[in-house]
Amino acid sequence: TKKYDYLIVGAGLFGSVFVYEATKRGKKCLVIDRRSHIGGNVYCENIEGINVHKYGAHIFHTSNKSIWDYVNQFVEFNRYTNSPVANYNGEIYNLPFNMNTFNKLWEVRTPQEAKKKIEEQKNEAGVKEPKNLEEQAISLVGTDIYAKLIKGYTEKQWGRSATELPAFIIKRLPVRFTYDNNYFNDKYQGIPIGGYNVIIEKMLEGADIHLNTDFFSNRDELEAQADKVVFTGMIDEYFNYRFGKLEYRSLKFESELLDIDNYQGNAVINYTDRGTPYTRIIEHKHFEFGNQEKTVITKEYPVDWKQGDEPYYPINDSKNNEVYKKYKNLAENQEKVIFGGRLAMYKYYDMHQVIGAALTTVENEFKQN
Ligand code: FAD
Repeated sequence: TKKYDYLIVGAGLFGSVFVYEATKRGKKCLVIDRRSHIGGNVYCENIEGINVHKYGAHIFHTSNKSIWDYVNQFVEFNRYTNSPVANYNGEIYNLPFNMNTFNKLWEVRTPQEAKKKIEEQKNEAGVKEPKNLEEQAISLVGTDIYAKLIKGYTEKQWGRSATELPAFIIKRLPVRFTYDNNYFNDKYQGIPIGGYNVIIEKMLEGADIHLNTDFFSNRDELEAQADKVVFTGMIDEYFNYRFGKLEYRSLKFESELLDIDNYQGNAVINYTDRGTPYTRIIEHKHFEFGNQEKTVITKEYPVDWKQGDEPYYPINDSKNNEVYKKYKNLAENQEKVIFGGRLAMYKYYDMHQVIGAALTTVENEFKQN
């Protein structure tokens, strides 16, 4: 018999939930990650007592009570509520679009006045059948909100002009006619006290962990150690790109430690003009109501992805989805390998969704025992 029941490739949330549940059932797990740390994209680096979200701002939110209870068994969450602010050429607006935003834009005071204003702008623009993202956005929220809060941000995100982007990218735009700056509609929200690493460390207790270990550089030897593999890396890489490469958008992060205690007064500020090259600045301490003497800020730049870059957002257009489908068919025939997580599924998952997916996988895997 082999030394381990499972080899888990990737110490992100998906792999970690699997390890926790398998260990609980008496299974032996070996976890590897090509990075030098556990946690995948939820990993935080501690700088001057501040948990710095190394791979982008992560705010936990869900309406699913059982998933909320699940994560709360590992850590307590604080009361952080995501209320991003937009900076358009120095003009400050609340997000998501709500009565505070409308009041600042037009000095309207009531929901009726705001609705009337949006209707007027939609009618003036006269878009009947939106042919691109610009027309779609204007048909949903009118010209002012589009010009100041959507256009520049979206163009930076996708690296293309809004008239060249397909309308389907924006299906709905959340517009709220109350004075409520809470970005998410979910029932539960917060940041783990002590950071995300606390959760991952607890999940991986009892497993053997090898960091700086790439599955592909030592595949045969690694596979020989366990009965089954749980693979959370890129599915196209697993199959040696035989059907071609799946495409992504990537991000570049630039962090600075500043010798002041409060740089921008909010965790997240979006820069919605086209001229500013980054899309947001994150000030990490505000996720935790930190009162350290210094602060760490991170500028986030969307960039084109090429092989070797971090794959952040899958580009789920029809071309890539077709390629993914072929890999998925192959994956379904691998009896000794379980595929899961955002990279193996080629899917954007929020944290609560990836935990849900991992728990479903666990249920299937251990149904007999
Ligand atoms: P990952 O965390 O990517 O873990 C996969 C791991 O596998 C990585 O550590 C990787 O190094 C490792 N790996 C890959 N290939 C190999 C290999 N060949 N050998 C060894 N190891 C390998 N979700 C929210 O709920 N709220 C948010 O606010 C939020 N913000 C986000 C912001 C950004 C910029 C991004 C990109 C995502 C955000 N998410 C957010 C989503 C969240 O990051 C994911 O749901 C979650 O991290 C997915 O976990 P995972 O285990 O599937 O993948």
